[in-house]
Amino acid sequence: MDTYQKAPQPLYEGKASRLYEVVDQPNLLIIERKDDVTKLDGEVRDHIEGKGAYTNRISNQLFRQLGKHGIPTHFVQELTDRETLIQRTSPLLLEVIVRNYATGSLCKRLPIKDGTLLRAPLVELDYKDDEYHDPLINHDHALELGVVNNEDELYGIEELARSVNTVLWNFFKKIGIILVDFKLEFGRLPNDKIIVIDEISPDTCRFWDAKTKRSLDKDVFRTGMGIDATFAAYREVFDRLTAKPE
Ligand code: 5GP
Repeated sequence: MDTYQKAPQPLYEGKASRLYEVVDQPNLLIIERKDDVTKLDGEVRDHIEGKGAYTNRISNQLFRQLGKHGIPTHFVQELTDRETLIQRTSPLLLEVIVRNYATGSLCKRLPIKDGTLLRAPLVELDYKDDEYHDPLINHDHALELGVVNNEDELYGIEELARSVNTVLWNFFKKIGIILVDFKLEFGRLPNDKIIVIDEISPDTCRFWDAKTKRSLDKDVFRTGMGIDATFAAYREVFDRLTAKPE
């Protein structure tokens, strides 16, 4: 097995992860998931011991699943419980939200009742900028802001997001979880190919138990139910994902 040596200092530190260069491997990075959990654009922060291992392993499991369906992601190899080898990309300043059920900010913006199953999956684009609170944008805004090189790239990104939704919706359905909505991020490889990056985990998705509609994601933390309940929700998603079929 190849070994990968992490640079001593992170290249970048975000709210939920750190990124490190890899010695002698300029096209790769190591992402280390942290135990921190935040809400309100990082204004409220807490620490959930062991959370990073769950977000790392859940995300890797989901990226492997996407890979099996031909959807390109940055995932290369899980190195440890909380560290993963990934392809290095130039991240796009874009968050792509896919919604199957109406909840969260959608219901604050539009007269759609919380909990409604949407007629079709809904894809939204947000400009990734904490200072502006990741505002909703359209294609014209994205082009004006230079988020992508041309509109065809936006159509390609939206198509990829819909494919991710189809794969994960079906995958979660099998384990009794409704994929309510989620956020994706994308990065550009040196050859201009755009791939899925960042993470897909209870930090970035809404999951509801199919029977009870109980939240199994960061909404447990967002709604003030505390860190033990949040940890239990993340563990439950991981356990269901990794349970052997009976
Ligand atoms: P909403 O727009 O309703 O707040 O969020 C929609 C979905 O995208 C939720 O699953 C939420 O977790 C995810 N999401 C949207 N923006 C962000 C963000 O800035 N960070 C994270 N971690 N997730 C986000």
